[in-house]
Amino acid sequence: MSKQGKIGVTSENIFPVIKKFLYSEHDIFLRELVSNAVDASQKLKALSSAGEFKGEIGDLKVTISVDAEAGTITVSDRGIGMTAEEVDKYINQIAFSSAEEFLDKYKDDKLAIIGHFGLGFYSSFMVAKHVDLITKSHREGAQAVKWSCDGSPEYTIEEVDKTDRGTDIVLYIDDESKEFLEKSRLEALLNKYCKFLTIPVVFGKKQEWKDGKMQDTDEDNQINDTHPAWTKKPSELKDEDYKAFYRQLYPMNMEEPLFWIHLNVDYPFNLTGILYFPKIKNQMELQRNKIQLYCNQVFVTEEVEGIVPEYLTLLHGVIDSPDIPLNVSRSYLQSDAQVKKISNHITKKVADRLDEIFRNDRPLFEEKWDSLKIFVQYGMLSDEKFYDRAQKFVLLTDVAGKKFTIEEYRTLVEAEQTDKDGQLVILYADNKDALYSHIQRAEAKGYSVLLMDGPLDVHAVGQLEQKLEKVRFVRVDSDSVAKLIVKEDAKAIALTSEEQARLEQIFAGRLPEQEKKLYHVAIESMGAEADAVLITQAEFMRRMQEMAKMQPGMSFYGEMPESYNVVLNADHPLVRRILDDEAQAIEVGLQAKRDELAAKTAEVEAARKEQEGKKDEEIPAADKQALEDLAYKQAELEGAIKNELKAYGAGNDLVGQLVDLALLGSGLLTGEALARFIQRSQRML
Ligand code: ADP
Ligand code: MG
Repeated sequence: MSKQGKIGVTSENIFPVIKKFLYSEHDIFLRELVSNAVDASQKLKALSSAGEFKGEIGDLKVTISVDAEAGTITVSDRGIGMTAEEVDKYINQIAFSSAEEFLDKYKDDKLAIIGHFGLGFYSSFMVAKHVDLITKSHREGAQAVKWSCDGSPEYTIEEVDKTDRGTDIVLYIDDESKEFLEKSRLEALLNKYCKFLTIPVVFGKKQEWKDGKMQDTDEDNQINDTHPAWTKKPSELKDEDYKAFYRQLYPMNMEEPLFWIHLNVDYPFNLTGILYFPKIKNQMELQRNKIQLYCNQVFVTEEVEGIVPEYLTLLHGVIDSPDIPLNVSRSYLQSDAQVKKISNHITKKVADRLDEIFRNDRPLFEEKWDSLKIFVQYGMLSDEKFYDRAQKFVLLTDVAGKKFTIEEYRTLVEAEQTDKDGQLVILYADNKDALYSHIQRAEAKGYSVLLMDGPLDVHAVGQLEQKLEKVRFVRVDSDSVAKLIVKEDAKAIALTSEEQARLEQIFAGRLPEQEKKLYHVAIESMGAEADAVLITQAEFMRRMQEMAKMQPGMSFYGEMPESYNVVLNADHPLVRRILDDEAQAIEVGLQAKRDELAAKTAEVEAARKEQEGKKDEEIPAADKQALEDLAYKQAELEGAIKNELKAYGAGNDLVGQLVDLALLGSGLLTGEALARFIQRSQRML
């Protein structure tokens, strides 16, 4: 018997479509063919245990071989095979998938059947110009047949001799796909797609070094582990087994995982898997290894977004579920109720596991916290449910490295750090070294300072402020220590307003000129023991700018210069000395101008009073002009005095030294300014 025919597709030219668009990754053909071979083998097993196949099952391995000279790849199995009618039904009428029919009949053995991938067999035309399918059914006395197709909708089918039951698929690789004929390329693909299939998959022989070269041994080179750890019961596995499986999944990763979670659900959906918390050495490594998604041990993808919550995509490991729709778009996945349930379940499991470790082994939990922190924070920020669970075990670390839960920390600092409005003020630093002197000042006052130097800490701070009642986070350098936590109304400044104005102007002459930074002078009474000058950066603006750097929509804040205060301590003897020195040096000379300014100010005030309450048209134009002239004169005098004070400040070493010391204390003195500071210090010494 020999026959020709047309493949039962609606479109004449489905092959170009398959070739180009069906799968973006051409290498998927191998997964499809090997999966079919595994399916056929599993089906035979199922028939055998149902008593419908009486023959010997024997060795069911699937073999893959390459013939570089002939340019072929062959996938062979000893599964159920097909009769000519079945080839016609299952291969020629390609929209028809026998898997469904089979599933109906053998529901209980469902686990073993993949049949999930749609146009599986025809994906071979993505890499082959010609495909032969030689098959012999397991049925007694079956006649073997060969089906041949060159990629056009025409095929031939003829009777052939084949001793063994099962199917050989021979791909004649096309010119653009020659790469797949390389042994190493093929082996890499098998390792990617077939590593955990349920039937042994063999690719050539294991090799060994003999007589000065690599040679085949007698032993099969089996690609897969048919019983990977996630398919076993947790009670059967020891820590070592979990670690060994981790290495099996990521052979290039030298680190051991921190913890793992063995997922095992069969209702209301089917899901197994093992998720690992990896050890994170740096940010770069975060995304290198990914969670692998399997469907009944067939590798599907590493793109698990939509199936696991985004923050958990940072975990490693395997998820296996026949219940995840595989051939649909990502956006569909996200709205699928089943997938949502799966995602929620995983979240709950992860939170439960962390909670369990936290409660049972706090020292271990703390030891691993640095690596865990990013998952926990990411989870808390992106998932309300996770926040609720995690707030019990999320840890805050102080600058000395001690760790607290939120509640523990609240209890610790409540007494000292509650301000006059009853708000708990939590102090933090994002850099221990740069803010050292600020931290020291706060600690000297009996405050605790947290270290918030992680990539998500800015966001975590914002979230905690929202969630916790009457709690505010303040960076330790956002104000002078007295004003960080205001417990009583601020102390009156022990300088007259005239003295304060002079100080401000003197220091205005010495403000740092740095790109994208603005400095303002402020005066406060901080006590004679506190530093003479310090630099602070207001919390609100700084935080807005930090957020802006991470969120494109907020570039308004990002482009504004950073704003700093140069805070002068009115109680400090050095600050007073500057005032005294200035008084001696230039105030005598300024006196005439000050008197004149006082007179002008009085005149301006008198003239204003005179015009007060009158309608604009009632005031003679000459009077208006006179007032304008006076005000101009007044401003001019003010400007002149200011300029002299500024010039004085600019030339004063003590002023320069105090400002630079304050900058130094905040890590803001660098480059040329630092060099000048060093030179000036030496000169002054
Ligand atoms: P699916 O696997 O989703 O059913 P395929 O296109 O991969 O779709 O395969 C179509 C059908 O061809 C299979 O359902 C099966 O009945 C049959 N088939 C394919 N490969 C084999 C094989 N190696 N042995 C037996 N039958 C096979
Ligand atoms: Mg298939």
